[in-house]
Amino acid sequence: MDCEETRDLIDGYADRELDLVSSLRVERHMQVCEDCMRAHQNLQALRSLMHDESLYFRPSAGLRKHITSALRAEVKIDRRLPWASWRWLAVAASVALVAIATLTLIPRPNGPSAEELVAPEVIANHVRSLMEPNHRVDVPSSDQHTVKPWFNGKLDFSPPVENPVDEGFPLVGGRLDYLGGRSVAALVYQRRQHYINLFILPSKDAQDLAEKSVKRQGYNLIHWDKSGMEYWAISDLNEAELRQFAEIIQNRLSPSPWS
Ligand SMILES: [Zn+2]
Repeated sequence: MDCEETRDLIDGYADRELDLVSSLRVERHMQVCEDCMRAHQNLQALRSLMHDESLYFRPSAGLRKHITSALRAEVKIDRRLPWASWRWLAVAASVALVAIATLTLIPRPNGPSAEELVAPEVIANHVRSLMEPNHRVDVPSSDQHTVKPWFNGKLDFSPPVENPVDEGFPLVGGRLDYLGGRSVAALVYQRRQHYINLFILPSKDAQDLAEKSVKRQGYNLIHWDKSGMEYWAISDLNEAELRQFAEIIQNRLSPSPWS
């Protein structure tokens, strides 16, 4: 698939309207074409913004009153000059409409967080890894000393790889994935019949961030920043056990140089 064909399909892809074969073809192209990948990311970001309720300014009753009395004042002036009346009223009304329309579209300073933008991508990556068994891991191994060096030269950072098999979360393997506009490490763990994807990427925050958990589309997601790395754990496993997993991983990670 070339760029032109991808751009034709990218809207449908972002809306999840494509059939599986077409969406996989779009994805494959985006894996090798940074321009199309960026076009898709921009589209995604724009859509999340447009759907965010917090971006809309609801005009207050005070503003309404202010506009109404401004209009009344215009009408009063017009009584003295009847010939101009309707023209002035129309001008005042359109000024008021423009004011309302403008205020409605002014974004609020605290829009969606980076996390809110990344979470849907985390879910999509997780689901895709389960859908295609061949794609679940690129390096199938329960040995962290095999998985960790496998990422050498494939990423511009070295992800910490833990294998808490004794605590009941054996490592299944690792693979390269894409998140928030960059290549990231994805580690796969198993708990009974449930798979856990742990995405690791360099953190944008210098400080550690405490873990935050969210539930979306039936999946539990836990996100935290530690020692300069950002972590996303996702699974259909119950929240308590996923928290247990996140805690085990966090405890095994070296203490933060920032704390
Ligand atoms: Zn392209």
